[in-house]
Amino acid sequence: MRRKLIAGNWKMNGLSRDLVEVERLRGAIGQPEADILICPPATLIARMVRIAEGAPFAIGGQDCHWAPAGAHTGDISARMLADAGATAVILGHSERRADHGETSELVARKVAAARQAGLLAIVCVGETEAERDAGRTLEVVGAQLRASLPPGVDPRGLAVAYEPVWAIGSGRTPTRAEIAAVHEGLRATLAASFGPAAEGMRILYGGSVKPGNAAEILALPGVDGALVGGASLRAEDFAAIIAAA
Ligand code: PEP
Repeated sequence: MRRKLIAGNWKMNGLSRDLVEVERLRGAIGQPEADILICPPATLIARMVRIAEGAPFAIGGQDCHWAPAGAHTGDISARMLADAGATAVILGHSERRADHGETSELVARKVAAARQAGLLAIVCVGETEAERDAGRTLEVVGAQLRASLPPGVDPRGLAVAYEPVWAIGSGRTPTRAEIAAVHEGLRATLAASFGPAAEGMRILYGGSVKPGNAAEILALPGVDGALVGGASLRAEDFAAIIAAA
């Protein structure tokens, strides 16, 4: 049995005053059945880590550089995230692939850096609407995943998030059958790289997960959790999604 992981991606949202949402979450979730992670902007990580002390959730980053340190103005290394108390990092999110031209080959270097720093690497893959309409979803996400995995990486330090680009922030989701089929395809891709160890790896679904659809998505075969954007910003919504896990 894989323990589910519910991860919140705050993206470029959150000021000091929003830390109250994390305090509220702490009071709202009791002892959850799933692992819980919140990935705020880097500016809030250290303060959130303090709030999370003794709480049933951990704090993660939203990206890292592939190098441990050096002349990379504006970047943050995996080692720095770990030093701030983060235990995980989202890598290869479609917004980074689109906004910053990140390729899967670059993502693989970041995954290696994250593992070197002891962070859980959550590797995101997802097709565009045009790729979906062309019937290329499995081909696209499989290729992204294969190219985003550095050689020799230990599968125990990895999770995958299937996030259709067209479903992110749009209020639209694939059908349940489509989500289950993509997760099955991704697990087969992982099995080709990692053998039986792929059975222990978590594959999350992300894209317009809300309190109203979380239970049915999280109940699907092969769905081992959720990566939640907009609905992770308010404690009430995120707690409802956590309760559905
Ligand atoms: C995300 O960006 O990872 C995401 C899933 O966003 P949303 O839940 O808002 O669609």
